[in-house]
Amino acid sequence: MSQQDSAGPFEKGRYKETCGACGAIFEVIVLGGRMAKTSREEREDYACPECGHTYHCRGTAPPRVTLLSGRTDGGTSVS
Ligand SMILES: [Zn+2]
Repeated sequence: MSQQDSAGPFEKGRYKETCGACGAIFEVIVLGGRMAKTSREEREDYACPECGHTYHCRGTAPPRVTLLSGRTDGGTSVS
């Protein structure tokens, strides 16, 4: 049993996102807060790690994004 009473952000959920702009697949870890003080959710932005296309989610801190599969459009530009 781990004792975690930190008020900091914790992992609220994760999902895979396929970038509609470049075809890359990445995992998004959404962060939430335990305490009332830190649990106010706002719109958080995150970017595709391959092309920089911007997405949004609800959370208390910017989500963590991990690239799983590279882009499929053959491009190399990052906006
Ligand atoms: Zn992309």
